[in-house]
Amino acid sequence: MRQFDIFPAQTTVTGDPETLALDYQGLNKVINVSADVRIQKSGEEYFCQALVNAVVSTECSRCLTDFDLAVNQDTDFIACSQVTHEEKAGDHPDDEDYVFFTGSDIQADISEIVRQAIILAVDLKPICSNDCLGLCQTCGINMNEESCNCVKETIDPRWEGLKKLSGSATEHKEQR
Ligand SMILES: [Zn+2]
Ligand SMILES: [Zn+2]
Repeated sequence: MRQFDIFPAQTTVTGDPETLALDYQGLNKVINVSADVRIQKSGEEYFCQALVNAVVSTECSRCLTDFDLAVNQDTDFIACSQVTHEEKAGDHPDDEDYVFFTGSDIQADISEIVRQAIILAVDLKPICSNDCLGLCQTCGINMNEESCNCVKETIDPRWEGLKKLSGSATEHKEQR
């Protein structure tokens, strides 16, 4: 982060996926990453609202095929010096994320914030497309690519109500 004279300040930080070295289950690779950060200064603390934009290669949670996922994740954190943080301890709820200035400069490494934002997006069980058909529960083929003759049983209990609804609608018709 650079030093800003006017607040709120806005900046875009571009990260190097290599240095981010994000090793996480289900995540193959970070292809590119950047963050739009809006900074508001309050005393010696810098309140930051960041939008982490990244493209990562991950596995579709339905069909298990690798695909490129666009991540757009909001995250908030406070940047300040270690000293300020100790002085202010107790002023903020414990769940705030902090980054500390490195040395005496108004500069901070936000890699960990970016990592957490990407992990959050990958943990949301992303799917390759809204139309993804997933795998056949019987034979395991990828139904986006092939079709099989397995009998498809609807086991999702949420559909049971709908079945009844359509059933009673039909009965109603027959009574007329
Ligand atoms: Zn899929
Ligand atoms: Zn099948």
